Amino acid sequence: MPREYFYSDTAASNFTPNCINNELTVAFGMNLHPQVVAAINELNSKGWRFFVVTQNRGRAYYRHKVITIPDWAYKRQATGNPGYLDWYVSHECAHAYRAEANDWAANHGDSFMEELVRICPDSSLKYELNYKPRNAIRNGITADGYVIPQHKIRLEDL
Ligand SMILES: [Zn+2]
Repeated sequence: MPREYFYSDTAASNFTPNCINNELTVAFGMNLHPQVVAAINELNSKGWRFFVVTQNRGRAYYRHKVITIPDWAYKRQATGNPGYLDWYVSHECAHAYRAEANDWAANHGDSFMEELVRICPDSSLKYELNYKPRNAIRNGITADGYVIPQHKIRLEDL
């Protein structure tokens, strides 16, 4: 189960997290879904950096524009959870995009979930149900992918 701390450390442009898994960090992005790679590339262009770490949780260090992914997520994917890493990285990217939008109140609320649905491949969205089920369900995330939630259906679309 991913857990996160959101740090607000003093800015330091050369900040690097502890416990970097060099091998996986160098290869970061390999074998991820093109949709997720596109998000990573866009965030890279905005100054975000990604590190795979031998820690027990991922973190988004907003002030430093650094995202960490725990290396156990690779193992989780390799042991019968296809697309798990796509979801994990998408989840962290969604936090980064909300930070870029100065949406500091987003947390795991509606605007966060909309961002996640945009980034994460449909087939991997289900993993959010194990993490923030109430908000995920409210925002149309199901075991089979995204379904427009009732409260977002506009009358003019019917
Ligand atoms: Zn989160």
